[in-house]
Amino acid sequence: MSSKDQPVILEGVRITHPNKVWWPQEGITKLDVARFYADIAPYLLPWMKDRLLTAERCTQGMRGLCFFQKNFEKGLPPGTPTFPLTAESTGREVHYVVGGQTKTLLAMVNLGCIAIHTMNCRTRSLHSADWLAFDLDPSSGEFADAAKAATVLAPLLEEVKLVSYPKTSGGRGLHIFVPLRSGQTQDEARAFALKIGHRAAQRAPALITMEMSKAARGRRVLVDVMRNGFAQTVVPPYSVRRRSKAPVSMPLAWDEVDPQLDPADFNIRTVQRRLAQPNPWGNFWKNRQTLPKE
Ligand code: ATP
Ligand code: MN
Repeated sequence: MSSKDQPVILEGVRITHPNKVWWPQEGITKLDVARFYADIAPYLLPWMKDRLLTAERCTQGMRGLCFFQKNFEKGLPPGTPTFPLTAESTGREVHYVVGGQTKTLLAMVNLGCIAIHTMNCRTRSLHSADWLAFDLDPSSGEFADAAKAATVLAPLLEEVKLVSYPKTSGGRGLHIFVPLRSGQTQDEARAFALKIGHRAAQRAPALITMEMSKAARGRRVLVDVMRNGFAQTVVPPYSVRRRSKAPVSMPLAWDEVDPQLDPADFNIRTVQRRLAQPNPWGNFWKNRQTLPKE
């Protein structure tokens, strides 16, 4: 290790190789990302508290090899809370990290985690979905298409009297969340999302599809409702993404969902400016709703 790249202690967590460049084009270092997460913690941690986490770990930064990690056997502070869940696919027990503490978050960053994903439920009520999620994935790779698809979904949710909240994924897509009153299961949430998704595809068949197969999607926007399934994850607001400019998943007001918007404008360098403005998701948790029985 060069003498210039000595570990730095941030909020009690040792960040090794702080000067390692994680975004070569932008000159963003590992320490920049750690500092970003330390600063955003008051906004981000409420989305992680008591939730099981999955991290996208990229030990060489955004250009290197990345993998999704659920079990962290080494590298997290002693006493980091974990929670066992048996994976349906393999039957193996997975010891998920339970989020909510800055030191857990920063220790994950120290291990190379860039994006951190969360489940829609808390440890004490694993089968109660706290939100309904639509993940709009534009096959064209154009954010503009996701924005157009969102404006088809929004009135459909309004028609069933649900208040919804859009955010950038940080990638090219959009996520729409509906906060749910407790006691509604992931299966109920997914069944409802599926119904709305099909209605949207019916209303704008040239723009929106529910076809999971890439070939069948063509250039249309997939409304992915599988994020609602038990043990599925999604990036919470304010997670960084492994993309150029280090974009951040950002809560939006509906009138900001515009095809002209560039989601990468919300990034680790601009986020503080954004946070100085009123939070468009400020009343999210006061708006927990019951899904209509139709
Ligand atoms: P984009 O706008 O680029 O689509 P996104 O975050 O919505 O960004 P998706 O590829 O659509 O990315 O995936 C949606 C969510 O599914 C992710 O946020 C992540 O939580 C989860 N996910 C995707 N792939 C995996 C995986 N291999 N392992 C675990 N979770 C995954
Ligand atoms: Mn997506």
